[in-house]
Amino acid sequence: MSSDTTGRCLCGAVSYVAKGPVVNSRVCHCHLCQRAIGAAFNARLLFRRGDVEITGPVAEHPSSDAILRGFCPRCGTTIYSYRAAANVIGLTSGSLDDPSLFVPEAHIFVESRQPWVVLDPSVPAYPGAAPA
Ligand SMILES: [Zn+2]
Ligand SMILES: [Zn+2]
Repeated sequence: MSSDTTGRCLCGAVSYVAKGPVVNSRVCHCHLCQRAIGAAFNARLLFRRGDVEITGPVAEHPSSDAILRGFCPRCGTTIYSYRAAANVIGLTSGSLDDPSLFVPEAHIFVESRQPWVVLDPSVPAYPGAAPA
């Protein structure tokens, strides 16, 4: 992906531009993602933090010691999950201006996936985190 990746929240107060290459594209089925997104899974595009520029009054909530969830305080759209220790930020695919940019490379934490979510057998799936 060479062109900039752009996205925004539902009300438009928060927007972003990602200029760097995608680190990976994974679907996370963990319980924390399910609750933070308010849906069955979190399909996110991972970037290095320094490659993503966020504009607007984004608010953050720590869902664990490792992850900050960034969301729009006006409309509630979840924009990202930020892992400071690795300096990476996962942008939610639903907030992309072109959600078709997201193509899943792997499913992670499928141990806790919702039973009605049927996975494509050609995409790798891991019970927990993806192997390093
Ligand atoms: Zn908003
Ligand atoms: Zn997760």
